[in-house]
Amino acid sequence: MSVPEWVPIRADLRGFEPYGAPQLDVPVQLNVNENPYGPSKATADDVAESLRVVATDLNRYPDREAWALRTALASYLGHGLTADAVWAANGSNEVMQQILQAFGGPGRTAASFTPTYSMYPEYARNTHTRWLTGRRADDFTFDVEAALALVTAEQPDVVLLASPNNPTGESLTLEAVRAVCDAAPGLVVVDEAYAEFRRPETPTALTLLGEHPRLVVTRTMSKAFAFAGGRVGYLAADPAIVDALRIVRLPYHLSAVTQTVALAVLRHADEMLARVAELRETRDETARWLREQGLEVVDSDANFVLFGTFGDRHAVWQGLLDQGVLIRETGPEGWLRVSVGTPEEMTAFREALVTTLETPSIRQENA
Ligand code: PMP
Repeated sequence: MSVPEWVPIRADLRGFEPYGAPQLDVPVQLNVNENPYGPSKATADDVAESLRVVATDLNRYPDREAWALRTALASYLGHGLTADAVWAANGSNEVMQQILQAFGGPGRTAASFTPTYSMYPEYARNTHTRWLTGRRADDFTFDVEAALALVTAEQPDVVLLASPNNPTGESLTLEAVRAVCDAAPGLVVVDEAYAEFRRPETPTALTLLGEHPRLVVTRTMSKAFAFAGGRVGYLAADPAIVDALRIVRLPYHLSAVTQTVALAVLRHADEMLARVAELRETRDETARWLREQGLEVVDSDANFVLFGTFGDRHAVWQGLLDQGVLIRETGPEGWLRVSVGTPEEMTAFREALVTTLETPSIRQENA
């Protein structure tokens, strides 16, 4: 439902819908790349205790600079990073929007390469930044030559690169990131929301921060730390870039509750990362199984798998939903994305998919 005529919204926002996948109350939810494992009892107890402490202090504004949280995030990231090289906000969505507020804007250009995360054009729209998209190769890998040609011709102020990419799951090589950094006149943002799920041979762009002062690496606690409901995203960059971002952040943007709870969860990083290892195995099993069904699957470094291709992907999506399994109809035409859940949830997904693909109308459509 779009905004009625009489509502005096900005002309360039008219006709848009709010972003978001359907939030449906079904038994198996595998559509927004959440971590299926809630916190352990020990983590939940630590969270509850830290909330009890902060509860007595809520009349005060929180630490505007979130130093304790940034210190903990820097120490988690390693790579010699310190708190002044780390910034945090309410989800990496907010981090990214702040980046475009400070480094994009009227008269400036941001670019990315599709298929990729579908929020990127929205950050650009919201900040009046001109938006450009190049294309990935037909197999969804990052086409370095094509990317360099676009960057050289258009001189974008901000280049956004997701690695692992959403919805395809592939990571960038360090050589590709280096090449874009060398060619780009402005910021190069590598969105590593799913970094913890990457396969062992896959590098992180954090290793390039010392070489490229205009490189920014964003991360999130939503996925590996099972903290999607807590809303904490963060980035690592040169301290001067972090300082520049502080100009556009709202004062006290990260609540005391958010900061305290995130710190409590970070104290349990080891336990969270053990779950990530399990999820990686489940992902690889899921990919193997999908291939055994004769489907195409993109190798994934993330906590989701893109598979296809279907003549009528909506019918397949609906067939799964009718059996209580919600996945995501996103990305290139003909493909579907499933988030990695618990082994039980993946069994339900597999059973529902087999049943759906045996439905005569769908079988014919996909033949
Ligand atoms: N980047 C990518 C590539 C994503 O897929 C997502 C979430 N789906 C985000 C950023 C934003 O996550 P959050 O705001 O929860 O940190």
